[in-house]
Amino acid sequence: MDFAPSVSAKQLSEFRRIFHRHAESGFSEFWTTAFLAARLHGAGGFVKVGEEAICREARMGVPDEETQKKRIASAREQGADPTWLDRMDGLTGLIVDIRPDLPRHTALRFDIDAVDVEESSSPEHLPAREGFRSLNDGHCHACGHDGHAAIGLGVALELLRIKDRLRHNVRIIFEPAEEGLRGAAAMVEAGAVDGARYFFAAHIGVNARRSHELVCGTEGFLASTKFDAEFFGRAAHAGAEPHEGRNSLLAAASAVMNLHAIPRHGKGETRIAVGRMESGTGRNVVPSYAKLVCETRGSSTEVNDWMFEQAARIIEHSAAMHGQDFRITRMGGGGTAVSDLAMCELVRRVSGGIPYFYPEFVLDMGRGFGADDACAFLEAVQKQGGMGTYAQIGSRLPAGHHSPDFDFDESLLQPAVELFCRTALALDSMD
Ligand SMILES: [Zn+2]
Ligand SMILES: [Zn+2]
Repeated sequence: MDFAPSVSAKQLSEFRRIFHRHAESGFSEFWTTAFLAARLHGAGGFVKVGEEAICREARMGVPDEETQKKRIASAREQGADPTWLDRMDGLTGLIVDIRPDLPRHTALRFDIDAVDVEESSSPEHLPAREGFRSLNDGHCHACGHDGHAAIGLGVALELLRIKDRLRHNVRIIFEPAEEGLRGAAAMVEAGAVDGARYFFAAHIGVNARRSHELVCGTEGFLASTKFDAEFFGRAAHAGAEPHEGRNSLLAAASAVMNLHAIPRHGKGETRIAVGRMESGTGRNVVPSYAKLVCETRGSSTEVNDWMFEQAARIIEHSAAMHGQDFRITRMGGGGTAVSDLAMCELVRRVSGGIPYFYPEFVLDMGRGFGADDACAFLEAVQKQGGMGTYAQIGSRLPAGHHSPDFDFDESLLQPAVELFCRTALALDSMD
């Protein structure tokens, strides 16, 4: 099918740099969402924000109210469109329909959140050198989602331009809080992929570390559950009345040692991690509170669920051993899904029309890393009889994902837009 891009590489690089400067943490993408909404509404897109895009209650790991208020205020100060901020009603992420008047749809997903890491200010780091380093301390687009947002915006603008050619709707999903696997389930709950027959998402880099490379599908994602465990004990004088105390630090410490001793599972790979432990107030006070920040992973949803059950049991009994009350809060998580081979082949075929991708650098299927929340959308589409894929768009990377020096090769932006548009058009012509 013929398709000539009209959004220039320069324009896409500008979009990328605008998003990069406004790096925002998961569920706090207020500036980013308002910018996309205003821009796409202005271009004739049918934009859904707020509860039309995402289910408020189904979000996991949302920052506390005080933090959110500050971040909304800061987005306002940075010039976010007040009309859209009001319509969003405290919720981030958006959906844009290109032709909502037409039946069924192909869903394309782009994630928009940043990583909670302080960005490098080294002159070696291109965003620092060229003046588009993050404005928001402690938040940095260190996973390439600034590129994903720019590609998504480019795709939406291109498809809106040629919308009269479409036979079906194309829905573009801008997902908040992909990091920590927190956003997708809440968008699925709000019906984001209801009726979708095809699903396509991609990530910059991952295991495709050469520019001009393309991995058309992904397997080997791990299902994961992110959770916090809290222990509530009783403080007492550690010298005079230790017997009156209930030591939360000890309960948490027992839990950590035993969590990492959960046996392996015969049906697949497993992981457990306690990434942070907080407890204690002073040298001579029995600690009355402790918190563990943890995650389990598994090569299937079944194996991951088993890991989480074991973890919950260990936490419960560590609490009992030290006379504690306890609480386990799910902060994120999702299942796993494998790309459909037929979709991988279609993407490979489409990429053949884009000279940027070197044919000898195009693979059908590769392994992912850890997890991606795209699995929640893909799984939902597959369950309703559809198919989809999660591609990896190659880039040489000066530093790994989530590191303060992460950056990618901007020359991939326009070919990536073309890949999404041509794939959407190919799917649109199918019955
Ligand atoms: Zn990431
Ligand atoms: Zn990512």
